[in-house]
Amino acid sequence: MKNTDKDKIVVSHLKDQAWNEDKDQGKLRWKYIVDSTQSMSHGLSCGLLVLPPGEELPLHHHSPQEVYIIRQGEGLLLTSLSSKKVYKDSFVYIPKNVDHGLKNTGEEDLEILWIFPTDCWEEVEYIFKEK
Ligand code: MN
Repeated sequence: MKNTDKDKIVVSHLKDQAWNEDKDQGKLRWKYIVDSTQSMSHGLSCGLLVLPPGEELPLHHHSPQEVYIIRQGEGLLLTSLSSKKVYKDSFVYIPKNVDHGLKNTGEEDLEILWIFPTDCWEEVEYIFKEK
């Protein structure tokens, strides 16, 4: 089997990645960490999302599955039926097309790592639930 540029191990450092923001998304900020737009990676992508206290990522769904790993802080994992408390070292599996969201209910930043089975975050089409 021949290796190609796509078959190299990639090491990324959080400190080297730029913050991204979107005025429509309130005070959320995020970094792409393992992402085909940043590095020669494919098939899996991972990034860091930060929600300041009181901020919320509203209910949404998308066709790929997703894993959240809570890195710091505490909050609620929102679903269309109920919410569940999450905090440092909580892991969340979200099936395809199931509504979910996050709210920071604590006093420090809520930091979440997301993982998608996609080359990059941009490939994921977010469908937000109407309020
Ligand atoms: Mn999601």
